[in-house]
Amino acid sequence: MRYVSTRGVAPELGFADAMLAGLARDGGLYVPAEAPRLSEATIKSFAGAPYETVAAAVMAPFVGDAMTPSALRASLESAYADFAHPAKAPLVQLAPNLFGLELFHGPTFAFKDFAMTWLARAMDAELARRGRRATVVGATSGDTGSAAISAFAGRDNVDVFVLFPAGRVSDVQRRQMTTAGAPNAHAIAIEGDFDACQALVKGLFNDHPFRDRHSLAGVNSINWARILAQVVYYFAAAAALGAPRRAVSFSVPTGNFGDVLAGAYARKLGLPVAELLVATNENDVLARTFATGACERRETKPTMSPSMDIQVSSNFERALFDACGRDAATLRARMDGLAQARRFDLAPGELAALKREYGAARVSEDDCRDEMASTARATGYVLDPHGAIAVRAARGLLAVEPATPAVALLTAHPAKFPDAVERAIGRRPEPPARLAELATRREDFVTLPDDLAAVRAHVARRSRAGAAASAA
Ligand SMILES: *Cc1c(COP(=O)(O)O)cnc(C)c1O
Repeated sequence: MRYVSTRGVAPELGFADAMLAGLARDGGLYVPAEAPRLSEATIKSFAGAPYETVAAAVMAPFVGDAMTPSALRASLESAYADFAHPAKAPLVQLAPNLFGLELFHGPTFAFKDFAMTWLARAMDAELARRGRRATVVGATSGDTGSAAISAFAGRDNVDVFVLFPAGRVSDVQRRQMTTAGAPNAHAIAIEGDFDACQALVKGLFNDHPFRDRHSLAGVNSINWARILAQVVYYFAAAAALGAPRRAVSFSVPTGNFGDVLAGAYARKLGLPVAELLVATNENDVLARTFATGACERRETKPTMSPSMDIQVSSNFERALFDACGRDAATLRARMDGLAQARRFDLAPGELAALKREYGAARVSEDDCRDEMASTARATGYVLDPHGAIAVRAARGLLAVEPATPAVALLTAHPAKFPDAVERAIGRRPEPPARLAELATRREDFVTLPDDLAAVRAHVARRSRAGAAASAA
């Protein structure tokens, strides 16, 4: 399988190179050049199959010859061995035809584990094959950083550095980053906010000699390998509910648009997805774009669902690329508009194309709190704020189409957001043992000023990729 950049300038790459590159060199995102399809019989066989079996079948056409079937299977077995539920992504029923897909049984209790655990293994294996090392550097406001540290800790060929804003992540999130106890995992508290962390990471990547010397690699949600791993649970859930005989709708709590984009790829592969709903919190730039055709950035406001507090959803570029008929020049013009004027307008045909693929709904803070409370009252089930947004939006789908099962993606364990849950339902969610145990582990991190030279020196001293390069 070949991958092309949405900006149309960077060279086409195979799967392994696209995975190691993350972002394309022209600033674009890699997308598959072809559109493989799974047969109805294959999809039918997913009902009741082990998660890894579904994953191998869904992912193989996109991985192509970058991994042998047995290597792919082994990497998947290893990635999900540590999940706390044998189904990996179990369904719960919340109301007639309303289901929750629990995506929080991984090591850091958020859905990002599904992609990150596999990406870490696939990257490490590919680097070993090439006799190379890489340095993963990322900025986080919480969940991505903890998933990355957990997944890359102890890998032979990768060092991981995560920058987080000092004092601005939750205790649980910080402890998940600072207690890995692995010499290749480095948590760095920055005296600044999340934007400062992101600017520092950008500064490291823009320093090309540094970037090449230490083989910097990005694992944020624009990495295609992460999207790919997320396509799998759409198939597993839909097959359990009767696909391909029956169509299923999904409601996806959206921030950077990676998760919902994976749902669109499931549909392209042949899964009968009725509605694919982009559910946003009060940072509703996407919902407004789908309603009006004007994509307009505003100030980000903090909400109970911080992982969705995003104004520029980087993966939306991939959806827009398809909506523009894969015309890179049009796509570049839209992205320039967003960078320079903080807005762009979709052509009517582009908006129509996006609306054929996605619906959108905004859920207010009040409705999110009300959904947590009413679900707990009606069923005893405790939702986290992100999942509550998906469930509330899914109820809107069922009001129109009651005969089609609606699946809300539950992206985080409620115990990750105990204060918001307690305010909504009047009691604290029960933490899983692994989460409770975090409080007893020793923390290890450094605090650095918001200063590129200081961060660069810190990474240079500890990155083994750099050490190998200067020894050679
Ligand atoms: C990252 C995240 C989201 C948003 O997912 P995207 O792929 O960025 O749209 C939703 N919920 C939780 C808990 C997350 O960590």
